Amino acid sequence: MFEKPSRFVDRVFLHCSASDNPSHDNVATIKRWHTDPKPQGRGWSDTGYHYFIRKNGILENGRPLSRTPAAQAGHNTGTIAICLHGLDEDKFTESQFATLKNLCVEINDSYDGTLTFHGHREVASKACPVFDYKAVLKLDQFGRLGLDGTVAQPLFEVDDKTPDSLPTIRRGDRGPAVALLQRLLMIKDDGIFGPKTDAEVRSFQTSKGLVRDGICGPMTWAAVLNNDRIVHASDE
Ligand SMILES: [Zn+2]
Repeated sequence: MFEKPSRFVDRVFLHCSASDNPSHDNVATIKRWHTDPKPQGRGWSDTGYHYFIRKNGILENGRPLSRTPAAQAGHNTGTIAICLHGLDEDKFTESQFATLKNLCVEINDSYDGTLTFHGHREVASKACPVFDYKAVLKLDQFGRLGLDGTVAQPLFEVDDKTPDSLPTIRRGDRGPAVALLQRLLMIKDDGIFGPKTDAEVRSFQTSKGLVRDGICGPMTWAAVLNNDRIVHASDE
């Protein structure tokens, strides 16, 4: 969940990573680009952005919110910086936009609608971000958010996506880890571990030769996280 930093914030800036390379689709890569010594990297102390949104909609944390970003030269003070992975405007995903909307609604609500949302391009001669952020966020001419919270999907953040750091979850559980599991299994990510999720987990476990118990613990998490292609059973 979003928590207001103690420093003053009145603007949120949006960026894109300027890459469609899947191997760059994670905040760890961006961090390397920003913190590696020059000339390979920028030589900064941390990732320039506060948030990174992957193609699959997963939200990753970059620089702590307590710190001013390094993202919009000359316009960093008083801002929060969000980056979506992508370069080709047609290759941004609905999952990314859902996560972005969600995050922006949370931020906006935290500030009682007093802050505004902008593209990097508004303060730099860059085509960043390349997607139509004003349409996605329904911004007015001042950059005020035109979304309400009711369409937002559950927000989940992934700081440390390793099997041992994720909680063991089973039928009846709910929350961000459930939503993450559902997204990785390509099923509706409502964050509620119900019968459908239970059935999908069992089916997945069988397909991977795991104990078919419907419980997602370290071994099942490891298999889900390493699985790059879910084979769908027909559910029609
Ligand atoms: Zn930018």
